[in-house]
Amino acid sequence: GPTILWFRDDLRLADNPALQAAVERGEPIVAVYVLDEESSGIRPLGAASKWWLHDSLLALSVSLEEIGGGLVLRRGPAAAVILSLVAETGAGAVVWNRRYGGAERAVDTEIKQAATDAGIDARSFQGSLLHEPWTVTTQQGGNYSVFTPFWRACVAKGEPRHPLPSPDAITPFDDAVASDELTSWALRPTSPDWAGGLSDAWTPGEHGAIERLAFFIEQTLDDYAEHRDEPAVLATSNLSPHLRFGEVSPFTVYHAAEQARRGASARRATSATKFLAEIGWREFSYNLLFHNPELATRNFRPEFDAFPWPEPDARALRAWQRGETGFPLVDAGMRQLWKTGYMHNRVRMIAASFLIKNLMIDWRIGEEWFWDTLVDADPASNAAGWQWVAGSGADASPYFRVFNPELQQKKFDPTGDYAHEFIPELGTAAYPRQIVDLGETRQAALAAFEAVKRGA
Ligand code: FAD
Repeated sequence: GPTILWFRDDLRLADNPALQAAVERGEPIVAVYVLDEESSGIRPLGAASKWWLHDSLLALSVSLEEIGGGLVLRRGPAAAVILSLVAETGAGAVVWNRRYGGAERAVDTEIKQAATDAGIDARSFQGSLLHEPWTVTTQQGGNYSVFTPFWRACVAKGEPRHPLPSPDAITPFDDAVASDELTSWALRPTSPDWAGGLSDAWTPGEHGAIERLAFFIEQTLDDYAEHRDEPAVLATSNLSPHLRFGEVSPFTVYHAAEQARRGASARRATSATKFLAEIGWREFSYNLLFHNPELATRNFRPEFDAFPWPEPDARALRAWQRGETGFPLVDAGMRQLWKTGYMHNRVRMIAASFLIKNLMIDWRIGEEWFWDTLVDADPASNAAGWQWVAGSGADASPYFRVFNPELQQKKFDPTGDYAHEFIPELGTAAYPRQIVDLGETRQAALAAFEAVKRGA
């Protein structure tokens, strides 16, 4: 019978081990994407991610048609949907690339078990991480909670495999298979259509991802090490949403950077090494998620459970979300997020620190806002990023490190170019006044932190 190729966070044809296995099996291929918002513990995508998914699925189905196939769309609890598709098509095998969240793994285990019991070959592959989390352990066999030794251990494992080519052709399954209309999933906003800024900023899909990678390697990589912390400069790759949806694999990205590093100028080589370490932070975040499935909701360091969060101030939260706090770097970041679905990494740290430490709002509330508004909202990196800033996470900056948004602006946006880009009224009377006193709120946050220290 045919092979069911189940697409998930790997919306690409190149370097797709599950796709390669399906092609090698030789039988016709039924490619499917399942919108699953029902399985136990599965976190539905946020609005910006749904917008991205819509365009990415369109791009994937076009690419599949170009090589002779198509994409079936189904909705519902993934295990039931996949098993019913197996029955409908008389499939002999199901293949997919792995995911690492707790609920996702439970779904995969359920399918693997049921398929195997029914005599169907169910196989999963490594497509989304350079190193499977269970293969990177300390010498004592434990899990890393500090980045530097983690990444050193990864590097010591040797070079990750080279990317696989995309197939030229696949054998389609000729029987009719029912598919949802993509529009019926209502992934895109209609009225109001707030996604105009997203469309201007991004081209979801594998082609967009490959172009972004090529542009980065050719045009911006040289500046990465020196300018990656300056939000007004385009010095980072902007690959995060493409990596999030697996439109480009980390293996492809790794080898592009590694090739650029070899025999290059010192400036370029340093940049490439630094960039690869950021890919390492993605790996590290997934390692944390794998071992801590509740990373997005539970303090990695349990002593932080004692933190005395006050009732969140709804007006302050709204001002933060809208970019109306009166602190230009925070506001520019929050408006960049709203407009483009993205925020520069340095500014994410500052905006998050401001919410947690100056507004005393629980990091989980910020994590949720980012989850809803980021096009790269990632179950591992977002949770790890928020916990890192909060001080409750692995390898976290200490709690008493409070980013000062004014000093950070002097340092990283000295010309104000970034702030002005997103805050047209900056410098006029229309720009909001500062909603808090930085010094006072910092002192209050440090005092609250004493509760954690006492509990530790
Ligand atoms: P580059 O500097 O070009 O880095 C290349 C790739 O490495 C990125 O695309 C990303 O996949 C990975 N990467 C870089 N930095 C990190 C990091 N600190 N942690 C994990 N992976 C990293 N990243 C997400 O992909 N999704 C998120 O939801 C997310 N939420 C965050 C929330 C907070 C509070 C913070 C502080 C950081 C968060 N990050 C998140 C990490 C980082 O901000 C983004 O990955 C980065 O800004 C993406 O821009 P880029 O692709 O140009 O990065």
